[in-house]
Amino acid sequence: MAKINRRKWIKQNAYAALALTIPGSITASLYKNKEMNTKHPICATCGVQYESSTQEHCPVCEDSRQYVNADGQQWTTLDAVNKTHKNIIEKVAPNIYAIYTSPRFGIGQHAHLVITPNGNILWDCITNLDATTVDIMKKLGGIKAIAISHPHYYSTMLEWSKAFGDVPIYIHHSDEKWVQRKGDAIQFWKGREKDLWDGMKLVLCAGHFDGATVLYNPDHGGQLLTGDMPLVCSDRKTVTFMYSYPNYIPLPPEAIQYAKESLDPLKYDAVFGAFGTYILGNGKKAVDFSIERYLGQTR
Ligand SMILES: [Zn+2]
Repeated sequence: MAKINRRKWIKQNAYAALALTIPGSITASLYKNKEMNTKHPICATCGVQYESSTQEHCPVCEDSRQYVNADGQQWTTLDAVNKTHKNIIEKVAPNIYAIYTSPRFGIGQHAHLVITPNGNILWDCITNLDATTVDIMKKLGGIKAIAISHPHYYSTMLEWSKAFGDVPIYIHHSDEKWVQRKGDAIQFWKGREKDLWDGMKLVLCAGHFDGATVLYNPDHGGQLLTGDMPLVCSDRKTVTFMYSYPNYIPLPPEAIQYAKESLDPLKYDAVFGAFGTYILGNGKKAVDFSIERYLGQTR
């Protein structure tokens, strides 16, 4: 087991306080390469699960849109994450539940379960999955399919699919090279839109990733679940678009224009971002305003 400098780890990891209450959890929950004891290691920084136990690098974190932990690449396992984290499931709209992990793990995104008459969809995914989560989700009607906005949220998507009966996972084919664990459940779709059921569809916005998509639900006044493209800002009144959020790399005006063309035909009132920030009224106006504001900065 790799020896991790204890003080440094505490400094780097905001969740040390919880882990410290569980004897041995520091050495059990993180380890460096070559010492993996599991089939499918998980990157401790981005939360993406990999196929091979000999994986040494995380291409997702080494990409300019992410970053490698200051202590170097670290790995964990789903079992270890289960021991130190739990999921919170929160109703955020009459038909939408947010699912996120406490203490925060990896990037810290929220997944969303959208309840619709002909089956629920899990929009985006999180790493931590335990029996309690599966139980609650099943009581909410289960999951008919999973759709993921972009590679930062691939997390343990195959584990989620398996837990709910090998349900399909929809990913835009432009991001196929970012999939780190292959599986029959993954279905790559092409083009600008993919129709689902009950009027729902996936819409390609690109930009942040070539295959970055949003989920559109026409019910409840129209709902847009955006992942990070666009991202709902902290003011909960506007959105923004970036190539990299942690490294502050903007997108060119052509990319914003492309996203605008994708979003223009959709009618929606609410916008649900990936980090618990939502615009719950006049969402379309907010997005239109934000696009003009962004393009104004580039003129
Ligand atoms: Zn990573």
